[in-house]
Amino acid sequence: MTHNPQQLTLALSKGRIFEETLPLLEAAGIQVTEDPESSRKLILPTNDANVRVIIVRASDVPTYVQYGAADFGVAGKDVLLEHGGEGLYQPIDLNIAKCRMSVAVRNGFDYASAVKQGARLRVVTKYVQTAREHFAAKGVHVDLIKLYGSMELGPLVGLADAIVDLVSTGSTLRANDLVEVEQIMDISSRLVVNRAALKLKRERLQPILEAFERASALRA
Ligand code: ATP
Ligand code: MG
Repeated sequence: MTHNPQQLTLALSKGRIFEETLPLLEAAGIQVTEDPESSRKLILPTNDANVRVIIVRASDVPTYVQYGAADFGVAGKDVLLEHGGEGLYQPIDLNIAKCRMSVAVRNGFDYASAVKQGARLRVVTKYVQTAREHFAAKGVHVDLIKLYGSMELGPLVGLADAIVDLVSTGSTLRANDLVEVEQIMDISSRLVVNRAALKLKRERLQPILEAFERASALRA
């Protein structure tokens, strides 16, 4: 791979973040010329020879940007809170991939009285940091069990009393006989920029950041 010091590398995840970032890139005059859903390539070219896109796992985006393997990226607030944000500058809320982080329990489980009685709750989640802070702030005692997917199953098979997960329409919860009992925070995706790149590549990054800012403000 030849090294082009002018090149900007943008880290995105497949799916909703890629899809919802496309119009923002468009506003900056950048078109991704290959579709990650059909291409097996992990490095995608754009119409701008100086901008390329890398496709990584959603939770890996902050890591690529932190270490400068990508100059900038798009990641959910959920992912950024778990990562911690070291080495990252977070200038813009892009107002995309909106959902909320919530506590849900099995239909019929009386969460409010369990909390009131000071019961120790078992909670499954992918978002251990955020869940820990939430329950600590409420003074609720919890045993947190980390899962990597399908949290909804936990309460159904007796692994946990509650889940902390992302909710948008609530249809996945309903389909699994779970009910949302507490909203922890609103979630959307943010632009993250490598701190060194921000200084060294400011001239190239600035117009893109400005275009993203204008386009995402229209979505607020
Ligand atoms: P994977 O599906 O590969 O395990 P992931 O679930 O983190 O990873 P996505 O489902 O693409 O990846 O989610 C990417 C980001 O989109 C999340 O980090 C979150 O910020 C946001 N998101 C997740 N679920 C929803 C949803 N149902 N509606 C809107 N935004 C969501
Ligand atoms: Mg997902």
